[in-house]
Amino acid sequence: MVMIKKTDKEWREELTEEQYRVMRQKGTEIPFSGELTFNKKSGDYTCAACGEILFNSDSKYQSTIPTLAGWPSFAKPIEGSVEYREDDSFGMVRTEVLCANCGSHLGHVFDDSSSPTGSHYCLNSVCLGFNPKDSNSKDS
Ligand SMILES: [Zn+2]
Repeated sequence: MVMIKKTDKEWREELTEEQYRVMRQKGTEIPFSGELTFNKKSGDYTCAACGEILFNSDSKYQSTIPTLAGWPSFAKPIEGSVEYREDDSFGMVRTEVLCANCGSHLGHVFDDSSSPTGSHYCLNSVCLGFNPKDSNSKDS
């Protein structure tokens, strides 16, 4: 259930232009442009709009599907953190992934045999925040 409801004007003020375009207008960032696409640090990935924890680094992986490799890939979300909606835009039937807390668009989920779970959560980096588990840890 979406807990946070804001007007379009409020979202426009709170988000960056690119976040607003992707998260509220279901846009897609340019592949390989996202800061977190190849982030390998341990920690939690949050919703950039509301701060809710959505994914953790344990489920992040590098997809072998070339057309999906340019965005952060996850095998599974934290239980109950995301919602799904059928999306038939652009002549394709895809499953849209939204933040369950604020309803912001995050990306899509696809079947992917290279994923540990068989599901590939292909998210826009701009929709995510990142909280490193331990800022002093040496893993990179
Ligand atoms: Zn959210």
